[in-house]
Amino acid sequence: MEKNGTPVERLEITFKHPMPYEWSIGRYGSRFFQEIREKRRFIGIRCDGCGSVYVPPRRVCGPCFRELTELVPLSDTGVLTAFSVVNYPFIDPATGELRPIPYTYGYIRLDGADNIFSHLINEKDWHKIKVGMRVRAVFKNPEEMEGNIQDIKYFDLLP
Ligand SMILES: [Zn+2]
Repeated sequence: MEKNGTPVERLEITFKHPMPYEWSIGRYGSRFFQEIREKRRFIGIRCDGCGSVYVPPRRVCGPCFRELTELVPLSDTGVLTAFSVVNYPFIDPATGELRPIPYTYGYIRLDGADNIFSHLINEKDWHKIKVGMRVRAVFKNPEEMEGNIQDIKYFDLLP
């Protein structure tokens, strides 16, 4: 590169710039993780218009556009509706480190809920996993609970 006839050397500066941040998960998001941390159970929220139960709880039913207020307890079991066994390195946004591969991500319809909840599945061999299998959440030990999604370690496949 050249500027006004003078060669300009291209220089680079390399540095690490940590950017920690926090965000609010809202009233119902906080209640959802509080329920897991303190009672080791899921809660959802029911729409009094269409009857749909959403997990995690949300403020508004999309189809009805109604504000939601009725929290309902849910089971820690459900049905696997889809899954992916991931075999490429991926930086876990929760830890900032590469997640060991392979791992399995599943889409779960918790018993009593109408939408899909996604989380890790405790099986890496895709030959052993079938859509429609029953699953159960495995929580961290009570003294390890932090009030976030990682309080759920994974979902076990049920026989
Ligand atoms: Zn609704």
